[in-house]
Amino acid sequence: MNAKILETENLTVTFDGFQALNQLNFSMDVGELRVVIGPNGAGKTTFLDVITGKVQPTKGRVLFKGKNLRFLKEHQIARLGIGRKFQTPRIYLNLTPRENLELASNRNKNVFLTLFGHPSNAEKNSIKGLLETIGLRNKADIPAGLLSHGEKQRLEIGMLVAQSPDLLLVDEPVAGLTDEETYNVGELLLALAQNHSILVIEHDMEFVRQIARKVTVLHQGSVLCEGSIEEVQNDPRVIEVYLGQ
Ligand code: ADP
Repeated sequence: MNAKILETENLTVTFDGFQALNQLNFSMDVGELRVVIGPNGAGKTTFLDVITGKVQPTKGRVLFKGKNLRFLKEHQIARLGIGRKFQTPRIYLNLTPRENLELASNRNKNVFLTLFGHPSNAEKNSIKGLLETIGLRNKADIPAGLLSHGEKQRLEIGMLVAQSPDLLLVDEPVAGLTDEETYNVGELLLALAQNHSILVIEHDMEFVRQIARKVTVLHQGSVLCEGSIEEVQNDPRVIEVYLGQ
C-alpha cells in the first residue's frame, strides 16, 4: 500500500447549522497530483480551509502523513509542511521574481535571514533552477508588478515550492487567465508533480483535462465520485450536479 500524504475521516464542518462539509472521506498518496472539482458551494474552499487550520472541524479529522492536525494553528500546520497558494497572487510587486523567491525560501527559517540575509551559493542555484522551472528566467530581475497575470500565478507557485512543503495546495490557479497562460500553468504543475504531492482545486474543465490523473468530485460537502477524468465526466451523477449546471 502507498503511503498517504493526506487523509480525512468523516470530516464535518458546520457553519450555523449548515453543513459545508458532511462526513467527507478523502485520501491521497504521497507523490500524487489530485484535482478536486465540484459546483459552487460544494465545499471545496472549506476543505482547503480545514486542512490548513483556518477552520476547525466540527467532527472527524484530518491526517497529514498520519498525524492528526486537530487543534493545530495555521502557522503550525504550515511548518509541518503544508503550503497553500490562494486564488489571487500574493507577491511583492516592487521586488523582482528572484527577490520574491529568495524571501519565500527563507520564510520558514528565520526572520533576520528573511530581512537581512544573503542567500548562499546553493540557495542562489536552487532559485535559478526554480526561475527556469516557472519560465521566468528572462524576467528574473524586473519588478514583479510588470509581469502578466499568468506570470504572476507561476511566480506564486514558485514561491510556494521555494518553501519546500511536502504538500502543495493550489486554489483555482487559472481563474481569469488566457488559454495560453492556462496551458503554461498546467505544464508547470505537471512538471512539479514529478517530485511533489499536489492537490488542486479547479473549475476550468479544459484545464482539469490537461493536468488530471485522478479527480475527486465534491457535492454538498461529500465525495460524489472519484476516478480518471473520463470516468468522472461520464458519470451521470456528475453530469447532473456539475457539468449540467
Ligand atoms: P466552494 O468553494 O465549493 O464554492 P465553499 O467551501 O466556499 O464552497 O462553501 C460551501 C458552503 O458553505 C457554501 O454554501 C457557503 O455559503 C458555506 N460557507 C462557507 N464559509 C462559510 C462561513 N464562514 N459561514 C457560513 N457559511 C459558509
